[in-house]
Amino acid sequence: MNINIGAIGFGWMAYDHFKKIIPKGEGVSFTAAYDIDSARLEFAQELGLKPYGNLQKFLQSEDFDTVLVATPNDSHKNLCIEALRAGKHVICEKPATLNAAELEEIIAVSKEVQKLFTVHHNRRRDRDFCIVKKAVSDGLLGKVFSIESRVQGANGIPGDWRRCKESGGGMLLDWGVHLTDQLLRLIDSPVTSVYARLNCVNYTVDDNIKILLQFENGISAQIDVMTACFLPLPRWQVLGSEGTLQIKNWECEGSIVRGAVDEVDWSLEAIKNAAGSTRTMRPRPKSTVESLPLPEVDADWQDFYRNFKQAVEGKAKLNVQPEQVLRTAKVIDLCFQSAREAKSIDHISI
Ligand code: NAD
Repeated sequence: MNINIGAIGFGWMAYDHFKKIIPKGEGVSFTAAYDIDSARLEFAQELGLKPYGNLQKFLQSEDFDTVLVATPNDSHKNLCIEALRAGKHVICEKPATLNAAELEEIIAVSKEVQKLFTVHHNRRRDRDFCIVKKAVSDGLLGKVFSIESRVQGANGIPGDWRRCKESGGGMLLDWGVHLTDQLLRLIDSPVTSVYARLNCVNYTVDDNIKILLQFENGISAQIDVMTACFLPLPRWQVLGSEGTLQIKNWECEGSIVRGAVDEVDWSLEAIKNAAGSTRTMRPRPKSTVESLPLPEVDADWQDFYRNFKQAVEGKAKLNVQPEQVLRTAKVIDLCFQSAREAKSIDHISI
């Protein structure tokens, strides 16, 4: 069975699906595109896609069975619902919607018309994230209690709609959604508290944000998404009872450092160090720690489409379940609420 994809919105991301995310020769084809911008349609046509300048004609087309919605964020809800009602499966770019209530509407229609609905959470298959997931699940760090996940650029926010609140712009709905979704896949425990600061440093939308999540199992997690950071901190810092994992950058340079002795030397001679008179905070002597390489992982964005094809064929469950996306959307809603009310949202279970 061949899966044929038609895109609504043939901008930067839909082109990325065309170019490198859809696996070539594996039974998934990109066949058509609808866009309100004629220049993008001309480009799609040059690439061999059938261009549509009219949404209704596009949705009635037999050229494809699945619609990829890759338009600015505020248009996702209506377009997903229209595509589902036209009898198509739907893959929506992230963030699925502007809030959880909108997403619930799409999920309800998807169930009613019995068509698949999923969201392109490609960053579940990022190498850095897969390394962290494997290290944690293999117990390399002992009992994990603190996770810091950061993406930090210094380029500001690209494009027009990403800088516009009404279009669903801002970093919480952009990268905040990715990093929250990753943490919810990593930590198998309900979120009990959400705190968010959404700073608008250079734009009218949130461009430098910080989120703190507390999980029922005791893990505290911090997310930073910065667009005005010239000296980045590590991409990941994960602390467990037996070791610390650090991934410095997108190239996945980093390591795991674990204690190699049960107890360090606390004697007075041992406190002579650059940190002054502290035994607690002096650097660990090298002989008392061991360094491990980061685990090897398979990480491939194309797996998204491989799984989607299998799900359409009834051979697998969707990797990105709508209910998982809804959980992420509920946490994002609470981030907006926390920032608005300038307080943490506690006593929850999500
Ligand atoms: P873009 O501005 O480059 O492209 C959007 C396209 O949609 C444009 O060609 C525009 O003309 C078209 N468009 C706008 N409104 C439309 C409408 N009502 N009907 C049809 N076409 C319409 O934006 P982009 O960077 O491609 O982002 C699109 C979506 O992809 C966003 O939701 C974004 O968050 C998501 N995205 C996801 C990732 C990821 O890693 N998963 C990365 C980038 C973007």
